[in-house]
Amino acid sequence: MNKEIVSLRKVSKWYGGQGGLPKTSIFNEIDFSLKEKEIVGLFAPSGSGKTTFLQIAGLLDTQIEGNVFIFGSKVAIGNDYRTSHIRRRKIGFVFQFHHLLQEFSAVENVIFPLLFEGLPRNSAIKKATYLLKKVGMEDKLYNRPAELSGGEQQRVAICRAIINKPALLLADEPTGNLDQKTADSVMGLLIKLLKENNLSGIIASHNPKVAEIVDRRIMISNGKVSDF
Ligand code: ADP
Ligand code: MG
Repeated sequence: MNKEIVSLRKVSKWYGGQGGLPKTSIFNEIDFSLKEKEIVGLFAPSGSGKTTFLQIAGLLDTQIEGNVFIFGSKVAIGNDYRTSHIRRRKIGFVFQFHHLLQEFSAVENVIFPLLFEGLPRNSAIKKATYLLKKVGMEDKLYNRPAELSGGEQQRVAICRAIINKPALLLADEPTGNLDQKTADSVMGLLIKLLKENNLSGIIASHNPKVAEIVDRRIMISNGKVSDF
């Protein structure tokens, strides 16, 4: 049986409710589980809780009720040291905006997670170059983000997120800022890299093409998360 990468058990989430602010419920006792090598597409309208869901699965949200399990172990959500350790080693994020470091080249941006892990710079550069070539960036290895197109910047951000093979890749509308054609190609590359590396991921998107190529589709409705 496939291992569980992340699961949410009876997780509830709301915003507000303090200082007289109205309380908005986002999730009401949701259950969710992602298996090893599974790629799930998260489709829901803006404002319905996609980002909140990814932040919970990525241990970035400490204001929840219920439990999050990583590899079957309950996470101590309030424990910053423990959760940031898990995040750094096991979880990769790709956002709508690339968040690349402007002063550094494509290769340099991609090697950071490897240097953090203590890999020597030369080996890190080799790995990053290999991955960037896979996504067609061989001619732009030494360009800085400002010298790259939006699609190219996102390809670098994707390489940076998966360079140390995170057990869980969370992507929050990673092609939301791109035109349709570029979005389709970047999304195709992201899913191909996940598959090739046997990684698991949750991808929030509005792109209908994504619905066709993921293993499973989920949606958010009335505070619940369900397959469709
Ligand atoms: P999505 O990513 O699907 O657009 P979000 O998870 O960003 O949805 O937001 C879900 C709802 O929660 C929205 O109504 C949003 O306005 C609200 N929300 C998000 N973050 C906060 C916050 N920090 N404080 C209060 N409300 C928030
Ligand atoms: Mg969002």
